[in-house]
Amino acid sequence: MKSSSSLSLLVAVGLASAAPSQAPLGLSSSSASDIIDASPFLSFHRDLVQIPSVSGNETVVGAFVAGFLESHNFTVIKQPVPASFHGDPHRFNIFAYPSASPAQDRPDILLTSHIDTVPPFIPYSLHEDSGSSPLIAGRGTVDAKASVAAQVFAVLDTLRTDPTASLGLLFVVDEEVGGLGMRVFSDSPLNPSPSPFHTVIFGEPTELALVAGHKGMVEFPLRATGQAAHSGYPWLGRSAISALLPALSRIDVLGHTPVEEGGLPASDKYGQTTVNIGRVDAGVAANVVPAAAFAEVAIRLAAGTPDEVRDIVARAVKNATADDEHVYCDFAAYGNGYPPQDLDTDVPGFDVITVNYGTDVPNLKVSEGVKRYLYGPGSIHVAHGDDEAITVDQLEEAVRGYKKLIEAAVQRQHMG
Ligand SMILES: [Zn+2]
Repeated sequence: MKSSSSLSLLVAVGLASAAPSQAPLGLSSSSASDIIDASPFLSFHRDLVQIPSVSGNETVVGAFVAGFLESHNFTVIKQPVPASFHGDPHRFNIFAYPSASPAQDRPDILLTSHIDTVPPFIPYSLHEDSGSSPLIAGRGTVDAKASVAAQVFAVLDTLRTDPTASLGLLFVVDEEVGGLGMRVFSDSPLNPSPSPFHTVIFGEPTELALVAGHKGMVEFPLRATGQAAHSGYPWLGRSAISALLPALSRIDVLGHTPVEEGGLPASDKYGQTTVNIGRVDAGVAANVVPAAAFAEVAIRLAAGTPDEVRDIVARAVKNATADDEHVYCDFAAYGNGYPPQDLDTDVPGFDVITVNYGTDVPNLKVSEGVKRYLYGPGSIHVAHGDDEAITVDQLEEAVRGYKKLIEAAVQRQHMG
């Protein structure tokens, strides 16, 4: 439990950044839930988290965000996104801009994050006894409703002091499972070419650091076919598992095999390319020679292009299996993948890091020269875990961070 004096300070800080018109709370009512209630920003974050929005079922949270933005004088476009399997048929992306000026439907500066979360839903809860700032736990408190809430309030704050700032908000669905929401936006008339915006600020948990880039990605199933037979007479069949194993063993070590020996490339910026064989499935029973086997592989690229990586993997599989035609990489199954994503970090005052997780950055096509930043509150290390949580301090600092990025983008435009 923290002291009331530091709590009241925190309340004051919270109000200063989110709701300058409200008076600070008295000392007697300083509990974590009072702090949340007193701050429109922290209340908005709470309301967002309390609405379950596991990927595929984002309609209710989308309607909430849209309503909030409309009530704050934004024009909101609800862009339909096709349903996922067993998902909600009416889900949509949210594209919003201040209603004041009609010219702003092509904002110069776009802030974007995602409103879906990973499963399972974990309810919102407050914890006062850990560290100096109240801790907010629950699914999505970090990834990415912290970014969504901070972006909204950074934009509202900026518009209060600079009503002509050309700002847009884009909140997409489906980021955690394939990025369909961002791809739908990217390919739509809302994202014409050349890009109408000169700056895009992506919100994901970066612990308030600017991300200089993240690794690329190639995912594919490795498949083997065989012929079923009684296990007492294996020579009457052909084992798909036996065919798959040498290929899998080789793929498993490609991340730390030297390039000259057929391994995957590394880079100073991102370190090693890493390989994860995340799933293996094969056969039907112990006493049946398996007719089919497959593995799902995810490669995080530190260097090179997806095509180069596919060539390296295909050659490794050929070598490991002595050209066995019954073992093959099904590269067409999961899409193209993407190379490492280099991002901008030219705004002073931030720590700069690289990260190993994927984002919607590669799913949004932008013109050459458009600045892209990746920044947000909270840690990726808890983002998909049962202990997903964020401090009030991190949330409030993120509003200031986004405002700083917006301000730098506005300045840059005035200078250019
Ligand atoms: Zn995320």
